[in-house]
Amino acid sequence: MVNDFKDMRPRIEKKQAALADTRPRITLSFYRYIHLEDPKAFRLKLLIIWTELGCMGRIYVAYEGINAQMNVPKENWEKFDAWIQAQPELAGVPYKLAVEEGQIPSFYKLTVKVRPKVVADGLDDSSFDVTNTGEYLTAKEMNEYIDDPEAVVIDMRNVYESEIGHFEKAIKPDVDTFREELKLVPELLKVHKNKKIALYCTGGIRCEKASAWLKYQGYANVKHLKGGVIDYKHQVEREGLENRFKGKNFVFDERLGERVGDEVISHCHLCREAKSDTHYHCKNQICHVLFLGCDDCIKKHDGYCSTWCRLTDKAPSGLKKRFARYYNRYFRPTQFKKTRLRAVAE
Ligand SMILES: [Zn+2]
Ligand SMILES: [Zn+2]
Repeated sequence: MVNDFKDMRPRIEKKQAALADTRPRITLSFYRYIHLEDPKAFRLKLLIIWTELGCMGRIYVAYEGINAQMNVPKENWEKFDAWIQAQPELAGVPYKLAVEEGQIPSFYKLTVKVRPKVVADGLDDSSFDVTNTGEYLTAKEMNEYIDDPEAVVIDMRNVYESEIGHFEKAIKPDVDTFREELKLVPELLKVHKNKKIALYCTGGIRCEKASAWLKYQGYANVKHLKGGVIDYKHQVEREGLENRFKGKNFVFDERLGERVGDEVISHCHLCREAKSDTHYHCKNQICHVLFLGCDDCIKKHDGYCSTWCRLTDKAPSGLKKRFARYYNRYFRPTQFKKTRLRAVAE
């Protein structure tokens, strides 16, 4: 049934099919806050056309708009773009093209989901004016803010994102979700009430909501980086600016990160000694935790996050589940944060 348009193939099969399709692809992201009358119908429209064009990715639609991370076979790019421009809801939407394509495809399947919101922020949108967003900062202006002692720069992303890359002097709240971040940031900013405030995130969508929220909280001078770190990198290259972003920009696809600055600023979570900014998912599917690993540790633990996960992965599945639950509850919090990529929506 067309309404239940869902790719039911097992994960491994989807991955193999995606790997077999070696057509060069263009990875991009875009978002737009726009009222959609019927998100379900809109979803179906996207699924049909983008399946036909061989696109893959993760897309969220809601009454409040659309948020897409996806790739398009290069050969179909013009058709894709022509279709976007013909939709009143999407015409002119700014694309943020990937800084680098990885060795592996950025996505293995196409999913379009209807959600209450395009980014899970935990805010009651009716309680403040969501359209009263902060002004945009260009890359050049962002650099000026970094040099200005009267300006505060805030990373609006989660700690596993800011850990591997961030702007010089940025405040990096120790949070796992955007919800927590929105609760914490007004507190952190209290001492900087009259300063100029610059927000940034991966592609800009989180800052749209966050800037409106902070303005509502009484911070008048809030601006945010247009197009996020992804577009910052493009602007820096285009305009020959100095790159003030250190390390990698975490992205929400199979590549898990794009190099922006040359330096590696974080450490392996397993040995805590070697430098690494390469994320892995633990090979134990029940654990699947996201962690930073150095080459030696990945080899030593065979791609698992711990000896525990490596050993218990060989146990029968019922027992495995019990092991994993026990481990996640009692040991994981002392080791490193448990982050599931799927739960994040930018
Ligand atoms: Zn290590
Ligand atoms: Zn594990």
